[in-house]
Amino acid sequence: MPDRPDDICPRPSKLPSQPTTPLAAPIFASSVYICDDPQQAAAMLAHEAPGHAYRRDGHPNAELLAEKCRQLHGAPQAAITNSGMGAMALAMVSQCRQGDHVVLSNQMYGRSLAILTEEAGRLGIESTVVDSSDHQATAASLKPTTKLLVVETIANPLLRVADLARLADIAHARRAILVVDNTFASPALCRPLEFGADLVLESLTKIMNGHSDVLLGLLCGREESWERVPTALSTWGLTASPWDCWLAARGIGTLHLRAERASANALAAAQFLANRAEVEKVHYPGLPDHPDHELATRQFGGRYGTIVTFTITGGTTAATRFIAAARNIPFCPSLGELTTTLTHPETTTHRVLTAAAREALGIRGGTIRLSVGIESSEFILAALAEGLDALNVV
Ligand SMILES: *Cc1c(COP(=O)(O)O)cnc(C)c1O
Repeated sequence: MPDRPDDICPRPSKLPSQPTTPLAAPIFASSVYICDDPQQAAAMLAHEAPGHAYRRDGHPNAELLAEKCRQLHGAPQAAITNSGMGAMALAMVSQCRQGDHVVLSNQMYGRSLAILTEEAGRLGIESTVVDSSDHQATAASLKPTTKLLVVETIANPLLRVADLARLADIAHARRAILVVDNTFASPALCRPLEFGADLVLESLTKIMNGHSDVLLGLLCGREESWERVPTALSTWGLTASPWDCWLAARGIGTLHLRAERASANALAAAQFLANRAEVEKVHYPGLPDHPDHELATRQFGGRYGTIVTFTITGGTTAATRFIAAARNIPFCPSLGELTTTLTHPETTTHRVLTAAAREALGIRGGTIRLSVGIESSEFILAALAEGLDALNVV
């Protein structure tokens, strides 16, 4: 009896056999896979046999992307999460339990600060916030119950650089592990595991994907810290979408070209801004007056990243004017795009802080954070000049 049309349509399709390998990877959108038998299904679900059964437990596009990131970081293990915050959550829930303590830098990304203090606190995990550039204070804040020391390679918005080798020693001396958020640096600038970090996380949403069209995170690290990661990833529902993974794998293909061009542009922008009378202060690790210039040179091998922060005279009013006049630099509260963008920390990333806390971090009304893109440097300098020139028109 021939198949009825209403039986043909819902039946699974057989993939056409393919003698050649596609150069661009396919997208595996399936949420579930046909298993051979119960034994195979059980083994795959327990991560004891290769293959996929259910997408939340893993899928080929996440694995392809994880493998690229694993190689970029020289990491024994890597996992992709549904956002950078997903990677931070995964680091926390895979390593900590009630009664544990975490130490974190006072210059963490806002949501990272929130998850490691407020959210952690609700789960019975204690936290201490320190100035991680002060190594004595950092060492003194670790306790016998400290599980994690968490820092960012290059911190927002003043671009302080963490001395990863020193911080790894401080963590390990107290049997804690060093967790590094490497989002601003990316592996094009820094591979924190080489400096002794145990876990590295990145928001792939930023320069790693680089095309402003996905939300993804990476957690990678050492075997000793990995035991609970695969199960926690699936159990807490942090798995990434195959569509996002596919796009990010494409974006990463040009990471090194983009990072090289954007870092060179950032240095040119920082030098240009430092010579303008309207600019009070430029924060860029590539400038000799940055407090971490030597450390950055040592740790990043001669490149200094794609973010430049500067403060113009005249406070919030001047910043607002600059943002309106710099028409070729979109105001976007993120970073790592193809195009040069800017944001205003006082009203975006650091808006929840008190004015005094912002001042202590060096963030003023006139402070602007620039995420430098891959346009020609001439275009970027002209776009900045357009904004600055408007400040002189009365
Ligand atoms: C953006 C960002 C995150 C969070 O990543 P999402 O992908 O937005 O969840 C974490 N850390 C840093 C430094 C970031 O810039």
